[in-house]
Amino acid sequence: MTEKKLPLRATLAASVSRTAAALSRATGRGDGSVIGGRLGMMIDPDLLAHLAAGRRIALVSGTNGKTTTTRFTAAAVGVLGEVATNSFGANMPTGHTSALARAGATPYAVLEVDEHYLAQVLTATTPLVVALLNLSRDQLDRAKEVAMMAQLWRDALADHPDVHVVANADDPMVVYAAAAHAAAGTGGVTWFSAGQRWREDAHVCPACGAHIDRDGTDDGWRCATGDLVRPTPQWTVGDSAVIDPEGVSHELKLQLPGKVNVGNAATALAVAHRFGVDPAAAAPRLAEVASVAGRYAQVDRDGRNIRLLLAKNPASWLEAFDMAEQQPTLLSINARDPDGFDTSWLFDVDFAPLRGRQVLITGDRAYDLAVRLEVNEVPFTHVKTFAEAVAAVPPGRLEVIANYTAFQDIRAELDRVV
Ligand SMILES: [Zn+2]
Repeated sequence: MTEKKLPLRATLAASVSRTAAALSRATGRGDGSVIGGRLGMMIDPDLLAHLAAGRRIALVSGTNGKTTTTRFTAAAVGVLGEVATNSFGANMPTGHTSALARAGATPYAVLEVDEHYLAQVLTATTPLVVALLNLSRDQLDRAKEVAMMAQLWRDALADHPDVHVVANADDPMVVYAAAAHAAAGTGGVTWFSAGQRWREDAHVCPACGAHIDRDGTDDGWRCATGDLVRPTPQWTVGDSAVIDPEGVSHELKLQLPGKVNVGNAATALAVAHRFGVDPAAAAPRLAEVASVAGRYAQVDRDGRNIRLLLAKNPASWLEAFDMAEQQPTLLSINARDPDGFDTSWLFDVDFAPLRGRQVLITGDRAYDLAVRLEVNEVPFTHVKTFAEAVAAVPPGRLEVIANYTAFQDIRAELDRVV
């Protein structure tokens, strides 16, 4: 696609979008993707569709892991040519518009999509592939909203029978969203197994309301009435390898930690495979991804190697425990607007994996965390500041797990020092 083929209004809108984004960046107001996209869409309401036309596109959605999976997928599809992507995590239509305008003409695009916007973005971009990772509560949302989201996804896919879906067989909510598409859609479904650590939102079958039975193995599940069962996945994971549909194992040397990220890598390779990418060619590219929007970043300070892990909802706390090594760990929790004010979710998360290591706590709501850890029988020390935490641990690794604004606070403090 070249921009010469865009309608005149779209060309103007794309240019305004880029200029506004550049101005916003130059004046220090963030990366500018939202304001740039918003202005462009005021001039041409169909700008996203115009910018998407002619590109082969993958969308990535889910409650957790979508930013990382988008980065991995863009790296994998990059085997074929230039890829436009919203790597700053601006995952609503304004962000997509800005990302495509900024990238100019590229044959490919990989876009992270907020789960609430999936239907709208499917319509605007007519993607080749959509990857559905998982659905769980985000902050205050409860299981009821999770089932509603699964239904919205299912309805959205019914309107787009031609799209190919790459979906997580381990999450009953995702399977419900994609099952009708697998049966009736012309685009088809590829199932992958990336595990499901957080199961509290998937006790009840979204199809019929019966109980979801687990068979005692890690990933096996089926609805008690049998109307929803775990599909057999074509892509699976080992400790540090992805096994493709032909049974070939692709050993990964990821810089990003944990089995969670091996699952994200499997998803990326499955999506890229639909574009014609050989997983053996793409796997080494995933090893080049070192940090995603500051997450997993490692900073050396005072002889400590500090690694930052963001945990924004119950499912991502469990994922962070999987990623963190058995090393001193600082937990920081705030309850400001972007975090949600209610910290009762702390009691939904099992902190027992932290037993046996040095645990420090801080943040606006450290006392809520203290109560939770007491109940969970995890010994801890309270520190007032991040600097105090660094001083309290021996030289070596310090794992930091923080929720959204606590993470931003710690990043700002590290940026000041480094
Ligand atoms: Zn059922």
